[in-house]
Amino acid sequence: MTALQGTLGSGTAMVRCLGCNGLVQELDGPTHAYMKASPGCWAVYGKLVARAASGFASPVTRWHHVDCYAVQHPGGAKHDRRQRQSVAVHLTALCLLLEHHLPAGQASAVRGRMSQTGSGRWGCQTGRT
Ligand SMILES: [Zn+2]
Repeated sequence: MTALQGTLGSGTAMVRCLGCNGLVQELDGPTHAYMKASPGCWAVYGKLVARAASGFASPVTRWHHVDCYAVQHPGGAKHDRRQRQSVAVHLTALCLLLEHHLPAGQASAVRGRMSQTGSGRWGCQTGRT
């Protein structure tokens, strides 16, 4: 865990996330299997995912926050094929949406195809992880 950065009014310690450098609660808890994130950041993201699943986001745009979170937490990509693939897939989806103005449904389809077919193109054919 990084050095103490401050506290909330309730006395909760705050730290910088290892991935995005955002100021988050200092927690002990789970994190993603290969995205480098602090437990406090992962916990906030989990709440966002739960809200999205409950219907605040449309099914088509539901993946946008996943794309943003994944590219903001690229740590470990140098040594982990899954992380390299994740960053590439999510950056591509954001590029298609923001720079090429691809409709969200089409970007979602491309994201899905890349996730399904990219495993041989991200370094795993050499046996590196
Ligand atoms: Zn973070």
